Amino acid sequence: MTDNTPLRSIAIVGGGTAGWMAAAALARVLGPHGPAITLVESEEIGTIGVGEATIPPIQTFNALLGIDEAEFVRATQGTFKLGIEFVDWLRPGHRYFHPFGVYGIDKGAVPFEAMWQRLRQAGAAQPLEAYSICAAAARAGRFMPPQPGNTPLAHIGYAFHFDAALYARFLRRHAEAAGVVRRQGRVVEVLRGDRPDRIAAVVLKDGTRIDADFFVDCSGFRGLLIAETLGATFEDWGQWLPNDRAVAVPTANSGPPAPYTRSTARAAGWQWRIPLQHRVGNGHVYASRHLSDDEATATLLANLDGEPLAEPRQLRFRTGRVDRFWIGNCVALGLASGFMEPLESTSIHLIQAGIARLLEMLPTRAFEPADTRRYNRLMAAEFESIRDFLILHFHATERRDTAYWRALATMPIPETLAERLAIHARTGRVYREADELFTKTSWLAVMDGQGLVANGYDPLAAAMPVDELRTRLQRIAAVTHAAVGHMPAHADFIARHCAAAAPAPARP
Ligand code: FAD
Repeated sequence: MTDNTPLRSIAIVGGGTAGWMAAAALARVLGPHGPAITLVESEEIGTIGVGEATIPPIQTFNALLGIDEAEFVRATQGTFKLGIEFVDWLRPGHRYFHPFGVYGIDKGAVPFEAMWQRLRQAGAAQPLEAYSICAAAARAGRFMPPQPGNTPLAHIGYAFHFDAALYARFLRRHAEAAGVVRRQGRVVEVLRGDRPDRIAAVVLKDGTRIDADFFVDCSGFRGLLIAETLGATFEDWGQWLPNDRAVAVPTANSGPPAPYTRSTARAAGWQWRIPLQHRVGNGHVYASRHLSDDEATATLLANLDGEPLAEPRQLRFRTGRVDRFWIGNCVALGLASGFMEPLESTSIHLIQAGIARLLEMLPTRAFEPADTRRYNRLMAAEFESIRDFLILHFHATERRDTAYWRALATMPIPETLAERLAIHARTGRVYREADELFTKTSWLAVMDGQGLVANGYDPLAAAMPVDELRTRLQRIAAVTHAAVGHMPAHADFIARHCAAAAPAPARP
């Protein structure tokens, strides 16, 4: 007879961002009478230690944990993020902004995007940024959280930049306060259960054996449980997203922190700039097929706007996902489940999405295969829609200046993305598929920013006279511009509400 009783114990292998996010959330939701939760981490192996930009759904995760936002920003030397500025992506010298939040306001069933496309084709629309409170505020270096009322200030979308090491520490405090037991030690053996898809226990170097009903693999790229033990295979997406290395270096602040991430295209990759309270995070993501590590480091060091605070650090990665995220009594989260380059700051979100789905389908000791299949299907779809969104940035470009950009601009793309581009080209229409992460604002921002111009417009806007559209959109742009004037400077907002008490210790 199947044992349909609740889980008695959960073991999380890995104490990076994924492990501590999982530990904090599971302990908080399942409570003191839920399963005993143990987290194993190896100081010898360490964590990847990057991952400093986020997207707005992280607010939901913080709320789930009962985190006070000001305390969180203070503890992590955090700043606020209103979107991403893309520099030189369409062609050198060009820049555009991918904002959080929304563009303008719909008119009944007619989406703002449809009105804008129609007016644009009549030659009377302003650039998209004029209709986004987040883009306008970012340009002005201002920030405040959304305000009540019928104002663009109600539509401010935001996320955070933070120090990855401090974030892990912050989550650890929450998790341990909620009852999670931390074990330090290297897992040297994984013991199989009574079926091929079951794990019984992990064994540490000092001989300690940790048994559990359920295992969460947060062991990083290696996938100690999901891949090495249970045999998940890796689906490689390098043919579309060829970047496979990064070099990162922190620098001293050279001015007040900008409320956005900057991504600057380079000859064989791109460079990030993430402002924190105590420093700026910088990194160069590149394709090793096109650029050597030394060249990548030299490019990064030649393009910093502050003094380096540490030696540059090299990181290697593979782009893709495991074929199954959940097998038997083990689910993989974080880098153990797959990775896509940090262009749109999606990895921490994918951890959060995995945790949310796990809680939604929390198994009993019967481990219902239908739940497992559903989890795997939903996570695969989530990874794939993000993959397509990332490919869009590299593929829709006028750049042909290096072999890297020529290859990306001319490569065959996934059918799912090709279909979106065809619909947009014909009708200017963008859509959000089912539960996918990126909104219509995001798709439109990047399609437009990367130079895709629609030939037509959504017939929903056809009945609206151009003069009416012009007046309406002019008003939206004017109100948006005026609203920014009511926002404080980002640095002043931080100083008033969430300044970190003292500089954090230097990163290892
Ligand atoms: P890790 O940090 O690698 O942690 C693995 C853990 O497993 C460690 O604690 C390790 O000690 C433990 N472990 C491994 N093997 C054993 C063993 N045998 N025994 C015991 N313990 C073991 N994400 C974003 O959302 N935003 C970003 O801006 C962003 N930027 C990134 C930039 C780069 C260049 C890269 C590579 C990633 C970036 N990410 C970003 C992704 C983000 O860093 C990761 O998603 C996040 O840190 C989660 O990592 P993890 O916890 O899965 O793995």
